[in-house]
Amino acid sequence: MVLRIPRTSVSNSVPSLSRMEANVVVLGADNVGKSALTVRFLTRRFIGEYGDIESVYSHILTVAGTEVALNIWDSPYAQDRLNQNCAKEKQIKWADGFVLVYSICDQASFNIVRQHIQLIKSMKGYPGTDKAPIVIVGNKWDLRHRRTVSSEEGRLLALATDCDFCEISAAETYHGVLLVFHGLVDRIKESKMLTIRKTAGIKGIVRSVSAVFMRKRTNSL
Ligand code: GDP
Ligand code: MG
Repeated sequence: MVLRIPRTSVSNSVPSLSRMEANVVVLGADNVGKSALTVRFLTRRFIGEYGDIESVYSHILTVAGTEVALNIWDSPYAQDRLNQNCAKEKQIKWADGFVLVYSICDQASFNIVRQHIQLIKSMKGYPGTDKAPIVIVGNKWDLRHRRTVSSEEGRLLALATDCDFCEISAAETYHGVLLVFHGLVDRIKESKMLTIRKTAGIKGIVRSVSAVFMRKRTNSL
């Protein structure tokens, strides 16, 4: 099941991008299904066991007319704390967007998502559309009879932190996983377009100010 929080989109008001690159990091506690989610998206398959290989996968997709070279960094198991924090900071710097996964049957994994949002916020600024888009994913929806994290908790966290939210089962369906990545890439595209527009705006202001100065200098000569 996918519960996407509707938000005002800016995509209609920005010019289109025909090509772009997007770096996405998949973060979360161990065993929540990060690899399952990533592999499901890339191959459409659920293979059950994934081992502990850290990988950056590359994938080409088209989202709303834009060809996207998507790089997905699937995080490995947590190792010792210091190395883990360094690795996480490196991942956060690299990423344009984040998939934060928890298991709806594991409250501790949900708390880790909160911590990740704080960390991302402290490094990238507030995770709104013009910063680093985040989608919070409650995985293992097929085990909802054993749920310990309610949909409400997930939705409220997303609302409070300006993230997207959905609940899915990587084991049961491909569609939800597809929506997670497509939705995030859409947000990354919006955020890149806003950056381009802001930069163009600043350049425009600099040009106008320079023109005024030039005019003043010419007048005073
Ligand atoms: P990671 O450590 O976060 O990368 O987790 P994995 O992707 O390796 O998955 C951990 C375990 O959870 C594996 O046994 C998966 O088969 C299982 N798993 C992953 N997604 C789901 C799901 O949606 N439903 C169920 N029931 N099990 C899942
Ligand atoms: Mg894994």
